[in-house]
Amino acid sequence: ERLELENDLRQAIELDHLDLQYQPIVDLKSQNIVEMEALARWTHPTRGALPPMKFIPIAEESGLIVPLGEWVLRHACTQAVQWIEEGIAAPDLIVCVNVSSRQLAQPNFTHLVAGILKETALPAQNLKLEITESTMVLDSESTIAQLYGLSDLGIKIAVDDFGTGYSTMTYLNSLPVNTLKVDASFVSRLGGEGQAEAIVQAIIALAQSLNLEVTSEGIETELQADWLREMGSDLGQGFLFSRPLTINEAKLALLKARKGNQAEAA
Ligand code: C2E
Ligand code: MG
Ligand code: MG
Repeated sequence: ERLELENDLRQAIELDHLDLQYQPIVDLKSQNIVEMEALARWTHPTRGALPPMKFIPIAEESGLIVPLGEWVLRHACTQAVQWIEEGIAAPDLIVCVNVSSRQLAQPNFTHLVAGILKETALPAQNLKLEITESTMVLDSESTIAQLYGLSDLGIKIAVDDFGTGYSTMTYLNSLPVNTLKVDASFVSRLGGEGQAEAIVQAIIALAQSLNLEVTSEGIETELQADWLREMGSDLGQGFLFSRPLTINEAKLALLKARKGNQAEAA
């Protein structure tokens, strides 16, 4: 089954049969959409829609994540430029793209990203790359060199699912990281049993002392949003604000947000 899925996925990448959805990330104070995270989607010809949890691990293990990631990056950058040029999004909209550690381990990755920015005409400041904490291979010199290369271009770096790994903490002050994304598992446990508040508070304090921005993931309730805002989380993402949207839905959400802003400013 796995081998079959792997072959089908290879084809889907080649034939452009993948899709992207975009999930808004909002400023927790103003509720404005400031970023859009691109999330890969795959509708299998016979099995129907497969969640990333099903195909990303296969892509990682087979190495297909490298061409898949490149596809995602190119499409997300193209989309962001289009939204900005058409006035649908503000010129400072940031598009967030998930990057696998296997991509980062490619010696030419920075070069590839620079090429895609040039080809799509997206300014580097409009791109944020998200790297999952638990897969960050930080003892590799080449990975660290790639991170610096990307950061030197002006691209922002986020540590995704922060709090789930165990190695980034000691490296954080020596890496060109801009954002910590608090993992949804802590957010969902806020107000419940256990130490979620203390952990989130500690992550935010750590980020603030290192001058990093905090985005909280998986916000589903107003209570969680209030809590996180008070604790000092800058940005928020989750079903409370919006689920991941198709391109058309994302366009409408951006337009609505822009209109709201312009009305406020006037
Ligand atoms: P992630 O990067 O941490 O993305 C956030 C995930 O949380 C998304 O799941 C999103 O749909 C989900 N989510 C957002 N808000 C909520 C909420 O309020 N409640 C809950 N329960 N979930 C929420 P999705 O789209 O299924 O993606 C899962 C993971 O697959 C992503 O986690 C990311 O690690 C990976 N992934 C997706 N697209 C790509 C890609 O293009 N490249 C790579 N390397 N990984 C990708
Ligand atoms: Mg992510
Ligand atoms: Mg995450």
